[in-house]
Amino acid sequence: MKIVNLGSGSKGNCTVVASDNTTILIDAGLPILEIEAKLNSLGIDPINISGILVTHEHIDHIKSLGKLSKKYHIPVYAHISEWPVLETKAKDILPQSKHAFDNDFYIGDLTISAFGLSHDANLCVGYSVYNAGAKFSIATDLGCCPKDVIEKLKGSNLVLLEANHDENLLMNNAHYPLILKKRIISNKGHLSNRQSAEVISQLVGGTSQILLGHLSEENNSPLLAYNTIKSLLAQKGIVEGEHIFIDVTYQHRISNIFEIKSSK
Ligand SMILES: [Zn+2]
Ligand SMILES: [Zn+2]
Repeated sequence: MKIVNLGSGSKGNCTVVASDNTTILIDAGLPILEIEAKLNSLGIDPINISGILVTHEHIDHIKSLGKLSKKYHIPVYAHISEWPVLETKAKDILPQSKHAFDNDFYIGDLTISAFGLSHDANLCVGYSVYNAGAKFSIATDLGCCPKDVIEKLKGSNLVLLEANHDENLLMNNAHYPLILKKRIISNKGHLSNRQSAEVISQLVGGTSQILLGHLSEENNSPLLAYNTIKSLLAQKGIVEGEHIFIDVTYQHRISNIFEIKSSK
């Protein structure tokens, strides 16, 4: 299974997951021209995308959802409780493209399992995608990561995990009103670098690769997130590059391409 992130952050999110036979997107929150151009640069024709999984209805995750689905007749998968809200925000989705799930499901040779995340949306989910013994999980837009979510992430070969902000940069950011800061740091906001490191420390052993996502452009940077998490893990005796590998996503450019295989 191959995974590549096309862009991640508060200005838009979109991730490609592909087996040999099936290609899907998780979220379509970047402008449609950008998604088309980036897919094209990867040699992916949007017409061959078998589904778009929706995490939640915030605009940075669904900006092009309706347009992309309608233009290329791509099925959209969202939790059954999310559809009433999604329908008011992504009006272009054709009736035959709407797929509601409330349990594990399949798209081609991918098995998909959703799990709830604590976020200030109608409903926010993370996903685990399984193929040929390999497991990829994504969890962004969560204010906290309780034990049940850690359990869902465990055993993933690769986890795309939120590392939204540096707590000091956020709290000292003069451009952010206090109410926004409170929202971000709340249990229904976004994971900080420190919280992300805490989650990663619990995944070491079963997981070899972490991809940091949804980094704030104002209150974080790829290098700061990487360095902060690396040093927090080191305090626990976990060595980046040895016990676990950490890479980052970017708002405005494509991430590295990851290929994961069954570790058995
Ligand atoms: Zn978001
Ligand atoms: Zn959100």
